[in-house]
Amino acid sequence: MFRETITHAGGDSNGTASESHVLMLMRRALNRGYRMEATRTGGASIRWTRVDLTTHAVVLRSIAVEPELPVGDLDLATRTLLARIDVGDARYAVHPDRYVIAFEDGEIPPAETARLRARRLVVVDTRGRVRLTMAARLGLLAHDHRQAGGGIDGFAMCSCGFTASAATGEAVDEVLRIHRQSVTAQFVESIDATYAAAITSRR
Ligand SMILES: [Zn+2]
Repeated sequence: MFRETITHAGGDSNGTASESHVLMLMRRALNRGYRMEATRTGGASIRWTRVDLTTHAVVLRSIAVEPELPVGDLDLATRTLLARIDVGDARYAVHPDRYVIAFEDGEIPPAETARLRARRLVVVDTRGRVRLTMAARLGLLAHDHRQAGGGIDGFAMCSCGFTASAATGEAVDEVLRIHRQSVTAQFVESIDATYAAAITSRR
């Protein structure tokens, strides 16, 4: 589950959100052209503006979702395991002596399997298939697009290799922000029907 914070005219309101609700929010944001960005904790922030019909002022609105258990450090070993699971043939295998995530060509050792599940980076569906959680996917996306240097002299780089240059440091930050928003939009667009169905059918 995610914690959801909605900022509106009267202040903030908080609630909880399921993975399917988070996907719905992000798809709606994509359709409406709202700015959204994945966060390192495995959440997302969505921002947009609207015109107040009474005062005609432009007001900022936002929704932030953060997993109840932040994804934490996604080190290379963890990212490698998650990438392997994301191929799509991962199953949860219960043997007399071990519980493991199994593939056609191998398996993840029991301790690592237990750790990935406890961190809620993966979930097992009712048919025994293993998939990445939305939090894991968002956390990986944010990890792949973090500021990797620069920030001075009008130049900065994203960890994916994207570079930004502009007249001021603030303008460079904005170019990087727009880049991160663009990759987040592409991520939401790329979520396929199979993954969406798996999320929605989760009990
Ligand atoms: Zn990037």
